[in-house]
Amino acid sequence: MILAFIEHDRGAVSSLTLQMLAAARALSAQTGDPLHAIAGGGGEFQQLERQGVAHLHCFDHESLHEYAPTAWARCISRVIEQHKPSIVLAAATDRGNELMAWTAAITGVPLAVNCIHVRPGEPFQVIRQRYGGSLLEEANLHGSTRMLTTALHVFEPAEVENALPMTVETISAAADEKDRRARVVSREETQSAGVNLHTARVVVGGGRGVGSAEGFRVLEELAGVINGAVGGSRVATNNGWRPHAVQVGLTGNRIAPVLYIACGISGAIQHQVGCKGAKRILVINKDREAPFFRRADHGVIGDLHEILPALTAEIRKRKSAG
Ligand SMILES: Cc1cc2nc3c(=O)[nH]c(=O)nc-3n(C[C@H](O)[C@H](O)[C@H](O)COP(=O)(O)OP(=O)(O)OC[C@H]3O[C@@H](n4cnc5c(N)ncnc54)[C@H](O)[C@@H]3O)c2cc1C
Repeated sequence: MILAFIEHDRGAVSSLTLQMLAAARALSAQTGDPLHAIAGGGGEFQQLERQGVAHLHCFDHESLHEYAPTAWARCISRVIEQHKPSIVLAAATDRGNELMAWTAAITGVPLAVNCIHVRPGEPFQVIRQRYGGSLLEEANLHGSTRMLTTALHVFEPAEVENALPMTVETISAAADEKDRRARVVSREETQSAGVNLHTARVVVGGGRGVGSAEGFRVLEELAGVINGAVGGSRVATNNGWRPHAVQVGLTGNRIAPVLYIACGISGAIQHQVGCKGAKRILVINKDREAPFFRRADHGVIGDLHEILPALTAEIRKRKSAG
């Protein structure tokens, strides 16, 4: 069997997991091994049926409802030891990579992260991204079980036609207290009104050039009229102008909107890693030599505090004219 880890927020399966499941399904078709999934935290996972999942292992003891990497990895490890899957996958999110690393450490199974291509068989080969995607590495994984995480925004999610019923198996064992030392203890909701960096078609990103937390108002107004989400460079998040959760880049989010509007961001490689999945990039910067212009599909040289309000006003005008 092939075992895929399902990342979700209180039952809502993440779009990045759906991408990973497309890769898992392709591997299932190539190897003939049925696709199983494993999820923690409780939730309504019937939609996984349409992703080609034949069987779901669900650890739903109350002590495992909130994310606890060691405790969750312990549950995944038990399923691996019991069922000996040929491949174990997760999406290469922070959580997916962390959990797979813990699971690999517990089970001793080899792990390759950020894979963009997997060729099962002997040798079992993967191509994976290193150094934020600036290097592609070919690697062979040995052993009867291989673990990997799939790079984000590489595989296209899709539903299967003629989905078969999925069976669900509940694992009710409690977590060992010592495995819950690191765990989620509370949540702070952002005020994103339904759109976030991963679901928005347009992301408006701001950097040092925005100047202050208040300066982000012009980005929020633009995002508001186009149903976009606001992100930030590391300078913007380090300065406390935006929450760290919306940082774009190597140590932040990897996003893939239809359009990324980068305002007052110079275009350091660590930032570009985060937005290279964007279909188009519009750069607004007052320095015509800013490196980001070399990656831009569209560019505006000028002060973002003049350009963004003008853009927002024009969009509002056109919208109200119908
Ligand atoms: C290990 C590591 C990991 C990192 N991870 C990340 C990451 O995940 N994300 C990330 O973003 N960075 C990351 N960085 C930092 C990265 O190297 C850059 O320092 C950072 O991206 C720069 O942010 P910035 O573009 O906002 O600021 P700057 O580089 O200072 O650029 C500001 C830009 O704003 C322009 N500007 C100024 N005023 C205006 C105005 N009024 N209108 C228009 N333009 C204006 C300037 O011309 C300039 O181009 C990382 C660095 C390291 C070493």
